[in-house]
Amino acid sequence: MSITDLTSMAKPEEEAKEDINEVLNGLKEDVPSFCYQCGKCTSGCEAFILLELEPSKVMALAKSGFIEELKDSDVIWTCLTCLKCKERCPQDLAPVDVLFALKNLSVSSGKQIDSGISNMLQSVLSSGMIQKPKEVRDHKNEGVNREDTGLPECPKPSQEELAKLQQTLMKVAQEKLR
Ligand code: SF4
Ligand code: SF4
Repeated sequence: MSITDLTSMAKPEEEAKEDINEVLNGLKEDVPSFCYQCGKCTSGCEAFILLELEPSKVMALAKSGFIEELKDSDVIWTCLTCLKCKERCPQDLAPVDVLFALKNLSVSSGKQIDSGISNMLQSVLSSGMIQKPKEVRDHKNEGVNREDTGLPECPKPSQEELAKLQQTLMKVAQEKLR
């Protein structure tokens, strides 16, 4: 059974939901005192330009109590977990942790995870890679692959290594759903 099956077949777990709500309620109380909307997290966010993620806005909305709306928003899935917001915040806050809490809350309430993420997980489970090596376009708009540039073939995990990776990922997923 894949992680996608596990998450899509999962029923909302009230206990997990309560735990996450507790975290978010804590955040709601803490965030207003510390986040002063300087915007440093958003100005350095790797997902801002292309994916329109604004961690400072997420903090402002969390601060105002719009937890349900944030949890149902697709934008929370665009975070790349680069951790720059955590590094840049002058107030030692971590918008990335707020985003993680929201994603956990979203999954535990039965919402389907974003298809891009589930495709990536499927690919990791079946091949050990986020995606297969792709042909890219050069400056003359011609397709170039690894072989054309003299790069060796991408190393692939053995069946044994793949089985170990699958077991570990499933264990992590099951622990998260507990
Ligand atoms: S960098 Fe910190 S204080 Fe500034 S907006 Fe982001 S979370 Fe708030
Ligand atoms: S961890 Fe997520 S929210 Fe924070 S800067 Fe990186 S992409 Fe943006």
